Amino acid sequence: MEELLERLLEECRPYTEQGRVANYIPELAKSDPAAFGIYVIGSEGKHSWAGDCRQKFTLQSVVKPILLLQALLDNGVEAVQSRVGVEATGKPFDAINASDQSLDSGHINPMVNMGAIVMCSLIHGGSYEERFQRLLELTGKLAGDDGICIDEAVYRSEKAHGSRNRALAYLLKSYGLLDGNVEEVLDCYFRACSIQVDCRALAHIASVLSNRGRLPVSGQKVFPSTLSRYVNAIMLTCGMYDGSGEFAIRVGVPAKSGVSGGIMAVVPTRMGIGIYSPALDAKGNSLAGIHLLEKLSRELYLSVF
Ligand code: GLU
Repeated sequence: MEELLERLLEECRPYTEQGRVANYIPELAKSDPAAFGIYVIGSEGKHSWAGDCRQKFTLQSVVKPILLLQALLDNGVEAVQSRVGVEATGKPFDAINASDQSLDSGHINPMVNMGAIVMCSLIHGGSYEERFQRLLELTGKLAGDDGICIDEAVYRSEKAHGSRNRALAYLLKSYGLLDGNVEEVLDCYFRACSIQVDCRALAHIASVLSNRGRLPVSGQKVFPSTLSRYVNAIMLTCGMYDGSGEFAIRVGVPAKSGVSGGIMAVVPTRMGIGIYSPALDAKGNSLAGIHLLEKLSRELYLSVF
């Protein structure tokens, strides 16, 4: 497996020169576009890796499936689905209005910013500090990392340059789709996006989602299989921004990408995959990362189709 990962990584390395690192959050513009790594955890517990797989980066939108999981664990499927729908928007993640009419909950899903901001408001806890701590604990458990924390510089940068997310949150509020104090909900969202991980952590989270909610080594059940089905299905249809349809054809597994260049891919019952390559394509997905997943999917017949 290591040999295969090394070979595919080298074959895809030229693509790292074709993408562009995100710069709308100034701190992200400092990422090294040449960084490239992959980590895989198989269902039998075997770890394999290649490249810069221990380099740290922030989750960004890869936190969205975890926000969804936390909201589902706290409120149940029906309550969450009544607040945010499950259909793909076909629009960019930060589109100002996902509908052409007046906005309702069915027009957004948990993988776009509006949906993820609503998820933050659904996490249980006495204060937003406590809500975020619960999310961080769940993320650490899924990632197999007790010391998980946020990247303070990225968090401050997100918060200082978050006008668009503020606009989205206030729009939700104006349509009655967001409860609570908007600035506190947003702060939770900015912190969530700034959680620091590496490819290993992404592979670990993905392996729990591939293993119907069980942690890889201890076998401890963190969430029921109904929730992994829910989250994996939404990642498959909406996880790769408005490139999810093409990704389903090229790769064919549930996955979530983020503007920092991470991709978390779940191969149900088989493996969890974490990739990092910060140079993005026009839709905001890691360009070399998608090529690498496409090749891996072909070699190992990973597509669920
Ligand atoms: N923090 C980013 C934002 O809200 C996350 C976007 C992403 O990774 O898609 O703009």
